Amino acid sequence: MRWSKYYLPTYKETPRDAEIPSHQLMLRAGLIKGLTSGVYSFLPAGLRVLHNVARIVREEMDRSGAQEVQMPVLHPGELYEETGRLKNFGELLFKLNDRRNRFFALGPTHEEVVTDIARDGLKSYKQLPQNIYQIQIKFRDEFRPRFGVMRAREFMMKDAYSFHATPESLQETYEVMAGTYASILKRCGLDAVRVAAESGAIGGDVNHEFIVLADAGESVLFRCPECGYAANDERAETTGPKTIEKEPAGMQTVATPGKHTVDEVAGFLKVSPQRLVKTLLFRAGDRVIAALVPGDRELNEIRFAKVIGTPDFRPLDEAEILEVTGGPVGFSGPVGLEKRAEIIADALLDGYQGMIVGANQKDMHLRGVVMGKDFKAARTAPLSTAKAGDICKNCGKGELELQRGVEIGHIFKLDTKYSAAMRATFLDAEGKDHPFIMGCYGFGVSRAVAAAIEQHHDAKGIRWPKALTPFHVILTLVNISDEATTQAAERLYAEMGKQGLDVLMDDRDLRPGAKFKDAELVGVPLRVTLGERNLKDGNAEVYYRLEDRTEIVPLDRVTGLAGEFYAGTR
Ligand code: ATP
Ligand code: MG
Repeated sequence: MRWSKYYLPTYKETPRDAEIPSHQLMLRAGLIKGLTSGVYSFLPAGLRVLHNVARIVREEMDRSGAQEVQMPVLHPGELYEETGRLKNFGELLFKLNDRRNRFFALGPTHEEVVTDIARDGLKSYKQLPQNIYQIQIKFRDEFRPRFGVMRAREFMMKDAYSFHATPESLQETYEVMAGTYASILKRCGLDAVRVAAESGAIGGDVNHEFIVLADAGESVLFRCPECGYAANDERAETTGPKTIEKEPAGMQTVATPGKHTVDEVAGFLKVSPQRLVKTLLFRAGDRVIAALVPGDRELNEIRFAKVIGTPDFRPLDEAEILEVTGGPVGFSGPVGLEKRAEIIADALLDGYQGMIVGANQKDMHLRGVVMGKDFKAARTAPLSTAKAGDICKNCGKGELELQRGVEIGHIFKLDTKYSAAMRATFLDAEGKDHPFIMGCYGFGVSRAVAAAIEQHHDAKGIRWPKALTPFHVILTLVNISDEATTQAAERLYAEMGKQGLDVLMDDRDLRPGAKFKDAELVGVPLRVTLGERNLKDGNAEVYYRLEDRTEIVPLDRVTGLAGEFYAGTR
């Protein structure tokens, strides 16, 4: 490619609505162009990177024995009625009508479509297992599209689905896929962790996320430095903090005038927020449920949904709180509430001597309240999210460390959730019908491009991992009017091309400083600079972007050096 003729626009200014480095750099380095919220074009250089990720994904999936297919983007709405996901997806699903007013959806994922394929052609246990995948655009009307292609409304996903006769067979493929993801991530230069994840209120229980570590990521995970346990924030289990500030038992009423929030009350009583217990009131169908969680922790809604057995719950409004508790918002507590609400206490509260709770009266709290004596919980269950420093439940020793990252892949054991709903069955050796046991394996191909930049950039721009770079070499001509320069450039360009190296020749009529800045922004790992001074001695200057180092190299050596530099990464 010759930059003078190549569409690779670069920008000095940081775009105002781009909050995180990868989004800023993708726009500034001319990789993508936004069309509307959460919808992007990949420009030529950006598409090269996207293709590199897709190629690695495809190679590793093929190596694992999975088979590539291409399923439709346009899905008849009835499919989603069969599995009940019309409701589950809710507003996430892009819906449209055809000319006969038949309802369609744009595929957010393909469990239904793939199950429809399987129920047609897979009949016997002898045909199992099968694992099929595609690399394709997905549509999701995200509540909050942001961070460029990281959370888009139209994005590229690799999705695979496996079909099995036995749980053991599913387990085998599940582990093969986990290994495949590890290889893909390694080849892409992404440092990621596999974590146990929560599957939501409905569906199979076993699932893992692959999280690319990055400060700007929206995912939170906890890792135990002692035993290696890793789980996302929805799943992480802990036996609680190392020490809990004790609230002495012995119930007494205290006035807390005008203090509503945990911090306000804790500050007023001069105690740690740990000693307080929040009473959160919900309605689920005709049940009223009071969830009790330590004052310094949040309710984990996914866990809560599991514990109460339904994702359909909502917080009580002010009027309902007054009706149920007799007191205003901010002063709810469990004492005297047993008959009016089902009390579910967070498991950590088992370790509490006493606690400070709302008194169900304006401006009043109760201190020294003892669970089991002053009120009885219907049950205790893990409800709250973990915090950094908590003791790992897995080994009982390590203190959990909090890390942030980007969810790049998610693998699930679906079991028979879709096959049972859609009557997709096979015959076993005895001729008996069974729904397929299924797994599904998603990987964010376009998100991986952004995640790679999140992990590999500096103040000057992107620092592409070797396997993802849009070009292997930028060939920078210091003075395009110098004949010796253009001659050497043409020679190297042809030579490297022959070796299968992708070269971007910067033959634009710009000052060298501007060219160097652009090269650093675009982030190609190798820059070969051709300037009159070095050329006189038959040399070029090679700049290693990843190491920020330069070297003077004889022209004859440049192509060989570039080939060695990329050996094993192409
Ligand atoms: P998230 O929690 O980030 O919303 P998800 O759990 O809804 O993702 P999955 O259904 O597990 O996503 O999809 C598989 C993969 O597709 C994700 O791991 C992620 O890499 C990618 N992905 C999901 N949503 C988006 C999106 N809006 N934009 C870009 N990539 C996405
Ligand atoms: Mg996910």
